[in-house]
Amino acid sequence: MNDSDPELAEDDSGPTAAELEAAGQSALFGDPAPPPPAAAPATPDSAPASKPAPASASQPYRVLARKYRPQTFSELIGQEAMVRTLANAIARDRLAHAFLMTGVRGVGKTSTARLIAKALNCIGPDGQGGPTIDPCGVCEACTSIAEGRHIDVIEMDAASNTGVDDVREIIEQVRYAAVSARYKIYIIDEVHMLSRNAFNALLKTLEEPPAHVKFLFATTEVDKLPVTVLSRTQRFDLRRIPAPLLAEHFANVCRLEGVEAEGEALSIIANAAEGSVRDGLSILDQAIAHADLDGEGKVAAARVRDMLGLADKSAQRRLLGHLLSGDAKALLAAVDEQYALGVEPLALIRALMDLTHRITLAQVAGDAPEAPTEEERAALGDFAKRLGAAELHRLWQLLLKGHDEVRTAPDPLVSLQMALLRILHAAQMPDPGKLARRIEQLAASGFAAAPAGEGAAPAPTAPVAAAPSQDWAALVEQVDASGQLRVAQMMRDRVRVIELGPERLVYQQADNFPDDPAPDIREALFKVTGKRWLIERGAGEAQPSLREAAEAAAAAEEARIRADPLVMAAFEAFPDAELIPPAKAAAGGSPPWN
Ligand SMILES: [Zn+2]
Repeated sequence: MNDSDPELAEDDSGPTAAELEAAGQSALFGDPAPPPPAAAPATPDSAPASKPAPASASQPYRVLARKYRPQTFSELIGQEAMVRTLANAIARDRLAHAFLMTGVRGVGKTSTARLIAKALNCIGPDGQGGPTIDPCGVCEACTSIAEGRHIDVIEMDAASNTGVDDVREIIEQVRYAAVSARYKIYIIDEVHMLSRNAFNALLKTLEEPPAHVKFLFATTEVDKLPVTVLSRTQRFDLRRIPAPLLAEHFANVCRLEGVEAEGEALSIIANAAEGSVRDGLSILDQAIAHADLDGEGKVAAARVRDMLGLADKSAQRRLLGHLLSGDAKALLAAVDEQYALGVEPLALIRALMDLTHRITLAQVAGDAPEAPTEEERAALGDFAKRLGAAELHRLWQLLLKGHDEVRTAPDPLVSLQMALLRILHAAQMPDPGKLARRIEQLAASGFAAAPAGEGAAPAPTAPVAAAPSQDWAALVEQVDASGQLRVAQMMRDRVRVIELGPERLVYQQADNFPDDPAPDIREALFKVTGKRWLIERGAGEAQPSLREAAEAAAAAEEARIRADPLVMAAFEAFPDAELIPPAKAAAGGSPPWN
């Protein structure tokens, strides 16, 4: 369907883009120039667009939003509560003199104002009808209001007519009766933009408006309105339209336009529209134009995602996932991929910070996170559930630190990789606060009491043979001190002493090395003692090697530490934890977040 594309519009069987544009502009509500009260024919050229869109883009950009402007209250989606209230007021003839429509942009404030104008002025197909919630749409009043050319419906955009003089002009005319309609209706869009003097001038009229006059105000910023004005209007808060309802609406529009669209694509558009029909239809316009360019003519989810720049976001979420799951390879691959796509390292880490921030907000709020797509909402919600508050704060701190590093680094990519790897490793560490609490709980619950109860110092797990003699240890130290480090190490590792006497060593090999260490040891001992040693392999009971003895001692010490109730509780809480000897911990095991 080519309505959105002016160049292709000629071939189209439906209304041409030019026709739509003409109808759209004359029907466009909220043009800066109010239609003159005199019955000047509405010329398309006389209504410049109020939004600063580039001229070439503005035409396809607005067509759908104008074409599908609701013409009846039943076409106005998502505002049922307001419509019911209004219907009641009309049925009971209890209409206020002034109405105020509030809500974010694009929810239908101006459309509603027009509909109310129709409802109040409709005379029915036979010209006999009264005010109705169901304007006929065919009478002179209905059609001319829909086209924005009704002489008694005066529209004004306060954004460009803020002064007291503009208001005074209105007030002057209020005194005169309606020319042809039941009510003279003033629609003032963005009414909060009026100056204070303008409000004051308006106020007198609002206090005692003539019976034939109605004011319809619309505003996105109701907080900026003086209380004196608020108190004199009946207020309707128009809600953001829920995404599923929007998606349904867009599906309808696509059907009417003869455009094929994937359901997921419409749902992405609906989410990106953030509750605004107008914004959503604008995106849909673009999506249809893209689909036409592709040749297939089908609005596809992947394409819409690209168009809205959402592809990157899912890549960023994957990156965060790798970071938290500890998958270093996947993390680096994802970083490379993003870099290859032209994402700057600094932008990438900023994106991760933004993600962390939004997850934290979602966690605090405890409800569905704000995000343009269902997919993203689900992902953010999932992260918010999985991560603890402390984890998120630590993640933020680490990202902040990484951000500063990347910013000042000579090679930002390298710095980014290092910073992310550091975060990845830190993320695998148990959160200290959680660890402490968990261990306390387990220790308090008496978990560790039973196995450790027999005695304070449980028997070492490995049976230790008689320790190597002091003499042998001293001899090895001597060899070591003389600088013969290799031989000293061999003596520690491989020699199980059977007998050690003056200049005599009987030993077993501790391992299955095929070579014989005896010649080396003989020479080393000669250098150290100045004596020729008799060194031979023997059989029988041997002492453990120095190395075996040291390992057994370490194992015994570890067993003793592990038997401590607090430590047992810690291992129960974190089965994958490691017991690191103090020397090793000091050398390389310092917490990465310091
Ligand atoms: Zn009518």
